[in-house]
Amino acid sequence: MTHAVNNWDTLSWEDQQELQDKKIRTMVQEVAKYHPAYKKLMKENDINPADINSVDDFVKNFPFTEKKDIAPTDDNPFKPSYFLMQKVEDPAYQPRFMIATTGRTSFSTPFWYTNWDLDNIMAVVARRVMEVTGMTKKDVIVNSFPYSPHLAFWLVYYATTGNRLTAIHTGGGKILGTQKIMNITYSLKGSVFVGVPGYMYHVFKTALGSERFLSDIRLLITGGDRCTRTFRKRIGSLLQNMNANDTRICAAYGFTESRVAPLECPHPDGVDGELTGYHTYPDLEFWYCIDPKTGERVGPGERGELVWTALGGRGTIVMNYRTGDIADGGIIYEKCPWCGRTVPRISSMISRRSEVKDVQFDKVKGTLIDLNQFYSVMPTFEDVDEWQVILKQGESMIDELIINVSPRKKRKFNESKFKRELMAHVKREMEITPNQVNVMTADEISRSLGMETQLKEKRILDLRPR
Ligand SMILES: [Zn+2]
Repeated sequence: MTHAVNNWDTLSWEDQQELQDKKIRTMVQEVAKYHPAYKKLMKENDINPADINSVDDFVKNFPFTEKKDIAPTDDNPFKPSYFLMQKVEDPAYQPRFMIATTGRTSFSTPFWYTNWDLDNIMAVVARRVMEVTGMTKKDVIVNSFPYSPHLAFWLVYYATTGNRLTAIHTGGGKILGTQKIMNITYSLKGSVFVGVPGYMYHVFKTALGSERFLSDIRLLITGGDRCTRTFRKRIGSLLQNMNANDTRICAAYGFTESRVAPLECPHPDGVDGELTGYHTYPDLEFWYCIDPKTGERVGPGERGELVWTALGGRGTIVMNYRTGDIADGGIIYEKCPWCGRTVPRISSMISRRSEVKDVQFDKVKGTLIDLNQFYSVMPTFEDVDEWQVILKQGESMIDELIINVSPRKKRKFNESKFKRELMAHVKREMEITPNQVNVMTADEISRSLGMETQLKEKRILDLRPR
């Protein structure tokens, strides 16, 4: 059976189901033979591969895999290798190319592709990324994802250079610096800009400030961080101020463990149009959503934690993998009204389970704070330009919440009024009062966020000891 299917995006729902049932059956048989971790797991749980004949059987019987099951530790740095398909005598199973997670711990988890995966997964998805976003040979594509062994950079590399499109892989602010990236985009008439949303905003703001109007930009592709409605609105108005009036946007949901990234198709109404959802690849992967508390599958369009399963492939393979990411609007199984593709679409708004933190504001009890909320609460305060949230342990072991912020340029600026109103805004929206608000200049906050030094800006920092 060939892996990828040519008509992947026009299959009927029935045909998709049939294909996925067939593929999951084969995949379970394969991992039972060649995958050290799943071979063991299936034995321990008394799972007979012959009993799994459909996606439904799989969901019912196959245990979850979580991040901690695969991440290397001080005690066992070899853990990820148990998730590599191993068939020693077959060269097609040799790991050849690696991407890694961006963990904050000293270890990041490697995910390997074999040559077969590069041809049948990476190259195939790279082609689909080009098709879904509508990049063409006429485009000049500026890739601002950092040079690193990360999915974002390499998928863009393969989707552009790999498909013989014109692209400049700048390495991001840390490598080339924002001035040069801006100048390249301007002088080469960049038409597609790719990168992390926060960094993209920084580049465009710098361009506007330097009167390097990036008026040829017609498409933005974002990844690596959430692409909120407020961001889209703000970036839209920046672009309009630079005379780029018909720009569209495709956010990607890059997820290292899957080694691919579903993405939005561009909405015809532009940057500020409706969110089209992440278009998944039903012949390569199986997604569903669960209630994060009970682990029970939820219905179509219902909020839940995303769970992912490979429907083929070699190298590093995870099955029934809990992503820790919550899709607010779940997964939608309706033909996309904008591009007409019949693929399951993950709702565009995703939040991270891991960003719900237990914070000790007083000695008596902890408070659960969903740090995800800051992404919508901060930019909706009109006078905020850039922001950063820091959690740290203060005196007598009590936690402190500090907000760094740079205000938008205005003729009259009353700092104490601004601080007071911002505090009240956060309190109203999140029912917590920050301990401190620091007003910074644009340069200061850009340094604090690490726009020119980090792979991804440090938007929310938890500095408390573990
Ligand atoms: Zn679409």
